[in-house]
Amino acid sequence: MSAQRTQRPAGAYPRPPLPPDEPERLKALEQYDILDTDPEQAYDDLTLLASHICHTPIALVSLIDSDRQWFKSRVGLEASETHRDLAFCAHAIVAEGTMIVNDATQDERFSHNPLVLGDPEIRFYAGAPLRVPGGRAMGTLCVIDRVPRELSPEQQAALEALSRQVVAQLELRRRIKELQQYSARDPLTGVFNRGHFDTMLPVELERSKRYDAPTSLLLIDVDHFKQINDRIGHQEGDRVLVLLSGILTRGVRAADVICRYGGEEFAVILPHTDLEVAGAMAERIREGVVTSSAEVEPPLRAGALTVTIGVAAFPADAEDAEQLIAVADRRLYAGKARGRDCVVAGDG
Ligand code: GH3
Ligand code: MG
Ligand code: MG
Repeated sequence: MSAQRTQRPAGAYPRPPLPPDEPERLKALEQYDILDTDPEQAYDDLTLLASHICHTPIALVSLIDSDRQWFKSRVGLEASETHRDLAFCAHAIVAEGTMIVNDATQDERFSHNPLVLGDPEIRFYAGAPLRVPGGRAMGTLCVIDRVPRELSPEQQAALEALSRQVVAQLELRRRIKELQQYSARDPLTGVFNRGHFDTMLPVELERSKRYDAPTSLLLIDVDHFKQINDRIGHQEGDRVLVLLSGILTRGVRAADVICRYGGEEFAVILPHTDLEVAGAMAERIREGVVTSSAEVEPPLRAGALTVTIGVAAFPADAEDAEQLIAVADRRLYAGKARGRDCVVAGDG
């Protein structure tokens, strides 16, 4: 697959020109997170309409990736992608408006193209660019025929209208993804929120069972946060919470899930981590918090910012999410009773 993607198929046909802002265009395409996704009715309906209205056997939603065109929807074509150098659509995305090729054998850009000389023997092509907000073209909605053809002005207008509907679908997809991400986050610190934690912990424990690997949980509570607020003010207190989330983000691995569990309480889910390793990670986090006291404005007395951490592991300590939280919480409060600024990773 990758060799096919990177190697230009043989033939004496010109390479399609690159848009002047190609890196930005590819970045914009990435935002839609759509390449290699499953077919969807919404796009298939639009290609079906395009082929019916234009009376062509083939209609495609083609997206131009760095070295290939990939079809989100296709009518009348088996292939799911082709090399970018072969793609008529790669030419169409740099055209002003809709690109129409009435007879590819008479067009020097395409007469030696393997898709013209061989299967699917393209003769007629019309591609309306998928221009997203900002003006960049992600690909095209195109129609193709195996015989030379013309497109009536009405058909062209309809193809362009349908291409705008494809863009509307793409935008909807991007906005939904954005909203999903936003709704999982705590607005103050940017880490995941309690809702996401409640959803993710059982999912992680199921995964843990499937891979027969432990998962650990840290519950982290700021010590005497009420006093800190009283001393530096609630707004600066908020900044302390942001500082803490930064310490946590730096202190754990990419696969770990950091959540704001409550007001001044954080939870971290540590997949593939047993109690001992989790305890060591918690200890490093605790030390990192102590040394960060100086970063708070106005500065807190050295050591004034501390946390207590309760640690529990699945399946050693608990059978499900609820029990795991209860054990970590019990250990957190044991740590508070012991005088705070400590990690408790076991009973007794
Ligand atoms: P302990 O060591 O026992 O945990 O003492 P504590 O003062 O941290 O515990 P307590 O639960 O009594 O108080 C928590 C405080 O955290 C009270 C509340 O004002 C503060 N707090 C909760 N959420 C926020 C927030 O979003 N911003 C700020 N600045 N303070 C918050
Ligand atoms: Mg608390
Ligand atoms: Mg507290």
